Amino acid sequence: MSSIFTKIILGEIPCYKVAEDEHFIAFLDINPNAKGHTLCVPKKEINRIFDMEESHYLELMRFSRKVAKALEKTIPCDRIGISVIGLEVPHVHVHLIPINEMKDMTFQHKVKLSGEEMEALAKSIQESL
Ligand code: 5GP
Repeated sequence: MSSIFTKIILGEIPCYKVAEDEHFIAFLDINPNAKGHTLCVPKKEINRIFDMEESHYLELMRFSRKVAKALEKTIPCDRIGISVIGLEVPHVHVHLIPINEMKDMTFQHKVKLSGEEMEALAKSIQESL
């Protein structure tokens, strides 16, 4: 069965898209730790990041870095934190999280944004790419 992220990639369920190229997509996390929390996802569905082909893994990091730079320009924050977990969605994704404090990386402190705010945020990140 396809992962929820494959369904997003195929356009079967919506997302607030931030960036996309031939092999990767980035969209806002639906339950963000912080404003601008973004997921960078390879279109090829694979469960564990270190099972990726080395070149594909390095390309994911290059793509994530580009998105992180756009986040830095858009969201006032100390820095962009990076995390890979995958316990909830077994389809590789890099969490990019604009952080100011350690709690922003804990996945226990969440922020609520309206659909309109998410839409506007995704658009401004896209424009900073
Ligand atoms: P992990 O698998 O790394 O533990 O966490 C999965 C992440 O994906 C969570 O932060 C969760 O909020 C996010 N997520 C789960 N389902 C969806 C979805 O349908 N759309 C979006 N944009 N994010 C999702």
